[in-house]
Amino acid sequence: MATVPSIALNNGVEIPQLGFGVYQVPPEETAETVATALEVGYRHIDTAEMYGNEKGVGEAVARSGIDRGEIFVTSKLNNGFHRRDDALRAFDRTLADLGLDQLDLFLIHWPLPGIDVDYVETWKAMEEIYRDGRCRAIGVSNFKPHHLQRLFDETEVVPAVNQIEVHPYLAQDDVRAFDAEHQIVTEAWSPIAQGKVLGDPAITGIAERLGRTPAQVVLRWHVQRGDVVFPKSSSRERMEENFALFDFELDRDDMATLTGLDRGERTGPDPDNFNYIPG
Ligand code: NAD
Repeated sequence: MATVPSIALNNGVEIPQLGFGVYQVPPEETAETVATALEVGYRHIDTAEMYGNEKGVGEAVARSGIDRGEIFVTSKLNNGFHRRDDALRAFDRTLADLGLDQLDLFLIHWPLPGIDVDYVETWKAMEEIYRDGRCRAIGVSNFKPHHLQRLFDETEVVPAVNQIEVHPYLAQDDVRAFDAEHQIVTEAWSPIAQGKVLGDPAITGIAERLGRTPAQVVLRWHVQRGDVVFPKSSSRERMEENFALFDFELDRDDMATLTGLDRGERTGPDPDNFNYIPG
């Protein structure tokens, strides 16, 4: 089985660079899907309260028999819980639903700059959660540099990660550079743009030449850029395909070709205009 490299976060905690995402995995299928991902070899699961499937993730982790210390679990604070007290309670619920004593990484899911709670207050609650020891690292998701700058100016703990949308049609090199400059690891969500980039002739051309699939080429591009990725799939075949990234390399020209496909095209919302609170 290929070895997935680990990346050290800014507090020394190690995160496997390749994980498995469970966005849009139906709650009733999650335990089985995650169990399959663990069998394939994934040791990093990315979930969120918003996905409604934390219980299934916890069930699969518990039933796997794998040492807790070998599986890295991330979850995220849902948008309706940005106030301090709500955030603390939401974290307790996340831990309970996952059936864990300690979470590996907890993120603010979206900054929600237009709501009546300032994300700086939310980050201070995250700092409390971190200091209390039940979470090994804290971070943010969908934060732009100007959102991060406010955290640097007004709070103490530098986020360990920033999980943002990144794929060949949205290279995000400006945000990634800002993250790196501040010792924040970038995690790339929707790394294959939910499949949208896989038919691009530049990508299929490289895949054919290397005898790899388009998804492998795109995921390998992320890995070589140093980002953390966690593609989602429901089929074992694709889970295996997406896991087989560590026995080939893209050369400098192929890397540049993929980065050159950037057209600033999001599949998800722009964090500056997204203030959605689930009902
Ligand atoms: P993704 O880019 O991983 O694409 C997943 C889709 O691509 C699947 O539905 C599947 O149909 C298809 N697919 C997967 N492997 C394939 C393969 N080898 N060949 C062909 N098609 C394949 O998209 P995603 O699920 O949106 O993102 C991955 C993870 O990122 C999520 O599961 C979630 O954990 C995280 N995420 C986070 C946020 C956030 O706001 N923080 C937003 C979206 C996703």
